[in-house]
Amino acid sequence: MNLSIIIPLLNEEESLQELHNWIVSVMKSNNYSYEVIFIDDGSTDKSWDIIEQLSSENPNIKGIRFLRNYGKSQALHAGFAKAQGDVIITMDADLQDSPDEILAMEKLLLDGEFDLISGWKKERHDPLSKTIPTKLYNWMTRRVSGIYLNDFNCGLKCYKHDVVKAIEVQGEMHRYIPLLAKSAGFD
Ligand code: UDP
Ligand code: MG
Repeated sequence: MNLSIIIPLLNEEESLQELHNWIVSVMKSNNYSYEVIFIDDGSTDKSWDIIEQLSSENPNIKGIRFLRNYGKSQALHAGFAKAQGDVIITMDADLQDSPDEILAMEKLLLDGEFDLISGWKKERHDPLSKTIPTKLYNWMTRRVSGIYLNDFNCGLKCYKHDVVKAIEVQGEMHRYIPLLAKSAGFD
């Protein structure tokens, strides 16, 4: 299998169908063999019903359901454990990350000497109060880690299979997966 796309979500009923359709069209036009693993992190809306519906219509769609909210890191971890693809993509469910970027990220990962590619939210529509602390946070994380990433918080990332299977993600650590990958010996 070429790709596993891992999508953690909490109460995202409004975007799941559209996200699914968008991913499927990208997968079909590039002839990928793939799976999408939705991890429902304790949603209280109709998210899980939608995931069940999608997976009954499309065998590439899989779901994991948490009965309460454990946080994005735990959701990613559950997805990583289940993933079977040669390349593993993580993305947010709220349509902030574009499936159109998957092809370029996968190509960069496989053609280059990289174990991990991280997306970068170029356009931000958030209020300034959110943008400035994020910039400061990214700058500090870069200073501490020595890894150059523009946006540690971007949900869109692309990993080689072995990297994902070697790292543990807990608590708020999803923000630092590049650091975890580094300490596991992938850099
Ligand atoms: N999410 C999750 N569990 C949580 C909080 C968020 O699985 O406890 C999901 C959320 O549905 C989305 C992704 O994690 O798919 C990123 O969350 P959010 O959009 O709130 O983060 P931001 O865009 O502010 O980084
Ligand atoms: Mg978001």
